[in-house]
Amino acid sequence: MMIESATKDMIDPAQCRLCEVWIDWHGSDSSNGTLWECEVCNDLFCEECFKAAHGSKLLHEMISMDGSKELDRILCPGCVSKAPNYMSISTLQVQ
Ligand SMILES: [Zn+2]
Ligand SMILES: [Zn+2]
Repeated sequence: MMIESATKDMIDPAQCRLCEVWIDWHGSDSSNGTLWECEVCNDLFCEECFKAAHGSKLLHEMISMDGSKELDRILCPGCVSKAPNYMSISTLQVQ
């Protein structure tokens, strides 16, 4: 796997498994946001990919971990789709 030159100034470059953008694990990207690691499949995904699949509202509820029992784990867009409780929450919010 070749690391693009854009990553040379990054402390710990990591790649989104979905859109393949490189983002510093300790920072964030201006257009793709922060990278997260799925607690189920360990895939890395950026905020932009999650938003594209499930919307920014669900993303923010998930990463804010505000105490909601259904949103206490970080899941990638694919695993969220397979989690029944996440789906019901997503559907409720979309109305
Ligand atoms: Zn991505
Ligand atoms: Zn996953």
